[in-house]
Amino acid sequence: MRSLIPPVFCLTLTAALIWPAGELAAFSTIGGSLSQSQRDFRVYNNFSDANSNENTVEHPNFPGALGAEMSIWKACVEWSSRTYSDGTGDPAQNGSLGSGDADFDPYWAGNASGVGNSNDNIMSPVNSCGAGVLAYCETPISNGWRIRFCEGHTWDDGPGYSLFGYCLQGVACHEYGHALGLGHSTVNIATMYPTISGSGIGQRSISDDDIAGVQYVYGTADSNKCEVTGAEVVGNTITISGNNFSSNSNEVWFTRAAVTSTGSNPRLRVQGLSSSGGGTTIAVTIPSEAGPGVVMVKRSGSGGDDLSNPWPTDLIEEGLCDPDYYCTAAVNSTGGGAYIAHGGTLSASAADLSFDCYGLPANQYGVFYYGAAQSSTAFGNGVRCVSAGGVGTFRLPVVQSGSLGSVSYVLDFNSPPVSSGPGALSAGSTWYFQYWYRDPQAGGANFNLTDALGGTFCP
Ligand SMILES: [Zn+2]
Repeated sequence: MRSLIPPVFCLTLTAALIWPAGELAAFSTIGGSLSQSQRDFRVYNNFSDANSNENTVEHPNFPGALGAEMSIWKACVEWSSRTYSDGTGDPAQNGSLGSGDADFDPYWAGNASGVGNSNDNIMSPVNSCGAGVLAYCETPISNGWRIRFCEGHTWDDGPGYSLFGYCLQGVACHEYGHALGLGHSTVNIATMYPTISGSGIGQRSISDDDIAGVQYVYGTADSNKCEVTGAEVVGNTITISGNNFSSNSNEVWFTRAAVTSTGSNPRLRVQGLSSSGGGTTIAVTIPSEAGPGVVMVKRSGSGGDDLSNPWPTDLIEEGLCDPDYYCTAAVNSTGGGAYIAHGGTLSASAADLSFDCYGLPANQYGVFYYGAAQSSTAFGNGVRCVSAGGVGTFRLPVVQSGSLGSVSYVLDFNSPPVSSGPGALSAGSTWYFQYWYRDPQAGGANFNLTDALGGTFCP
């Protein structure tokens, strides 16, 4: 039981809070806003506690990031103008990720080499804080910010939580609200309410009041806003689709692959790009410095509406050694669905495909299986997404979820059915994978299934 609830505290808030006009407004602002050139955020991940980096399950919306980086990335993109990709990645979210609907979008710029100065836009832990302080944000506002998480507390990156830990994502979402110009709210369900209840998971999802606040500072995103709706990689070219790009003088921003030094500008921009299709398509050669992360389009202009929402990409050609996700993760006894994710590739020679599932009931048995065709059939408490397709379905060895409700499995490419016979994962063969698991606490059929992934194996 948590009897004391430390306040989430922001250093500069003692100076002046500025309430907007209108008696009913419950959010507050600290005055000022982040310019278009200050939308980058980075992480210096030197959290000393293992709880901060427990999440080793990849998610396609956060390519290249695990642990604290993924947690903070999720926290910031919740403030995006548009639903972030397909909106998935956080089963605890009320609705989908990307709820701001303002002319404001954050830019995941990767890892920094240190804590940086108070305007380097880096989140990191700090050894000591004042009594009762969980985290704080230093906000020179228009010139940037710095956010620190106090190491006197245990920070949980999720999805598991320690007994006295705090939700890194939830608190980061609150602190990033300060960075973008919001003060505290009087609405007790708002992310910007000055104290948190429980571990702070509820703060992950911004409320109507927080949305009104970010819209007050940056303006409501209108239909003319620069917007990205997809990105597809073929070879070393990424083609970005969306709306309201300029006919020329566009920029595409990438996440850098390398750790960047604290004082450097982390933005990786390709400039002078033309669009086609009436401002709906931009094709650009992927720069060698780019890594898995996001792309954003900036059309000509310096307004918040001239910079698009972020779109995730691993910069790997879709369908070429990279599986597609499909089907439905039905609600289980945890209150959400359980999802399958992958590591490695659909490459027969690389033989590096692995699976992770999360959102599972804890300590329950299950089995990965695969087949030659997709399906969508009610089965148990969930949906069966894989069928034999005239070839067959094949079970892999039984595994068990851990106390955090996740399971990992590395395919053994040297043993049947993966290596030989009709179930061999050979180049040119097409396979779909899903996880079946026991869920006695849900009742019903006492079992359920994740969503699914698969595709054609390359050499
Ligand atoms: Zn605060």
